[in-house]
Amino acid sequence: MKEDLLQYFWRTHNWKDRLYVTTNGLPIHIVTPGILNHDAGPDFSNAKIRIGDELWVGNVEIHVRSSEWYIHRHQYDPAYRTVILHVVWTEDQPVFMDENIRIPCLALKSIISKEILDNYERLMNNALWVPCQNVVNRFDMEKGLLGMNARLVEKFEDKSAVLQHIFDKTKGDWNETLHRFIARGFGLNVNGDAFELLAEKMNYQLTQKYQHDPVKLEAIAFSASGLIPDGNSDHTEKLWQIYQTLPHNDRPTPLAQGVFKFFRTRPSNFPGLRIAQWLKFLSNPGSLFDTVINLNSPIEFSAIICQPLDEFWKNHFSFTAEAKNFSTQAGKDFADLLLINSIAPFLFFYGKITDNYELRQKAVDLLDAMKAESNSVIRGFHQLGFPINFASHSQAFLLLKKKYCDRKRCLECPFGVQIFK
Ligand code: SF4
Repeated sequence: MKEDLLQYFWRTHNWKDRLYVTTNGLPIHIVTPGILNHDAGPDFSNAKIRIGDELWVGNVEIHVRSSEWYIHRHQYDPAYRTVILHVVWTEDQPVFMDENIRIPCLALKSIISKEILDNYERLMNNALWVPCQNVVNRFDMEKGLLGMNARLVEKFEDKSAVLQHIFDKTKGDWNETLHRFIARGFGLNVNGDAFELLAEKMNYQLTQKYQHDPVKLEAIAFSASGLIPDGNSDHTEKLWQIYQTLPHNDRPTPLAQGVFKFFRTRPSNFPGLRIAQWLKFLSNPGSLFDTVINLNSPIEFSAIICQPLDEFWKNHFSFTAEAKNFSTQAGKDFADLLLINSIAPFLFFYGKITDNYELRQKAVDLLDAMKAESNSVIRGFHQLGFPINFASHSQAFLLLKKKYCDRKRCLECPFGVQIFK
């Protein structure tokens, strides 16, 4: 038996139906089970319970065995003096407050049905890709999807933590925060950190200064990236020469060679090409911040991102790898990825910090307007019969798999809870 099942049962059971009896024989009626407490202290607060003839309002503590009260040393903690009921799986020893007052105890062993226990055991004790995959046909998918809105918000909140870190580092500079966060997006998983480091060196002010001079912008970015190879071509020679003519303050110290990784990246994701696409994006007229805040649709964003590259990068993946018969401009799929992973989370974060509901909703609306991502996790859920049609769904399911299915937190999942109804 695990405490999370007891907590779930206590929180969701329909207690109104009947009277129960405490372990020492007192009639007990649960008026309200209280509110789950996520901080230190008793598990539920503000419960209303009639024990015998008296109506009590206070806290409820839950344990598998009653003796855990003493193991956790609650008898010495003033926060537990307001406990009005001890809810346990079994009472292996009576528990007393000061002055030998016995804490009323309700044992759930005789109340939780065998069916619930069996369902729980089956979920917890299998090693399937998602533990519920054998009972998916029992789910009301529409209802489950509604509950997944909370998982999407959780996904945005997780990204907000990354954004908050950057926001703090930039001392609250929104342009610089956005600049670094979008750069992370261009680097995808493998080179996200490297891109952020490059964006730190080549800060937003510097990119604005050279926004209208793409050749100088390229010279600064590639010199700072540490990607220009030794023994070079006309193109790299030209970049170095331009770089040397720039004012000292506009020449950031280069990153060490090897910060950008090529390992397991396809040519279309080679860092050189992604940097060229990033620079193309940065050379769009106007402020980055205004462009993002005023964005209205994925199509609008694709039009900004998917632009032909200039000269050298038209037919190169890197300084040494030619791209023959391949369009090197950023594609729509990549624009969608950026929108999902960088733009929408930024809108949500900005809306959260500035208390702007419309912007938070815009982040959700943008994902609702895009088709679901296609990757092994989403394909796996699809094959099991989960309807994942939009990017708002796929983002929520990616989080669900990592933070709920893999950790067997089925009692907190909008599909899982249906198994226990
Ligand atoms: S968390 Fe939800 S989807 Fe995942 S295994 Fe549990 S019940 Fe299934």
